Amino acid sequence: MIPGSLFIVAAPSGAGKTSLVRELLARDERVRLSISYTTRAARPGEVDGRDYHFVSKEKFIALLEAGEFLESAEVYGNYYGTSERWIREAMAAGDDILLEIDWQGAAQVRRLFAEAIGVFIMPPSLQALQQRLTGRGQDSTEIIARRMAAAREDISHVSEFDYVIINDDFAEAVADLCALFRTRRLQTSRQLARYASLFHQFNP
Ligand code: 5GP
Repeated sequence: MIPGSLFIVAAPSGAGKTSLVRELLARDERVRLSISYTTRAARPGEVDGRDYHFVSKEKFIALLEAGEFLESAEVYGNYYGTSERWIREAMAAGDDILLEIDWQGAAQVRRLFAEAIGVFIMPPSLQALQQRLTGRGQDSTEIIARRMAAAREDISHVSEFDYVIINDDFAEAVADLCALFRTRRLQTSRQLARYASLFHQFNP
């Protein structure tokens, strides 16, 4: 039994997933975020190696053909992929891994890691999502319209996830997300693996 768990966190664009995950990572040092590879251009403020590994389409295809990706998907015309090697190494070291991927990727990961836990982040209303997408001010009207259509598609897959967090009150949504990680970590099988020497003291 590996003590670390694999979590998949998905949401429609604009649901506030990035902020929630950032807060979780700040509060829980045992959670590590998998940095995806993408062919999309960096947005202002994004840093290569922190937000994504930004690569060319040619480089992405080379990595894909070399079998480096646990899963990959085309989202809004760009490619995204998750490094399998990094995840396996981090989990073996006992860390909880968080994958920020869409439902297509989640389905691929579940086939390989049946124990992966799926968490879906929902905006509180359609209007709120629309406002958040427009408020970001970085994307064109056409892209926003495309993302609203994609959001409906994403949300139609919610039943494939184990947990749903409604991101209405941010602090409450953060508490919900933190609670999921803590609860999972307290599972008997994982505690037995993590504290093997403690249990051994009582029953050598
Ligand atoms: P964005 O370009 O707005 O950062 O992300 C667009 C979408 O791509 C989001 O739904 C995000 O979850 C998804 N995404 C990001 N990285 C990956 C990945 O490695 N694999 C998959 N399947 N989706 C990803």
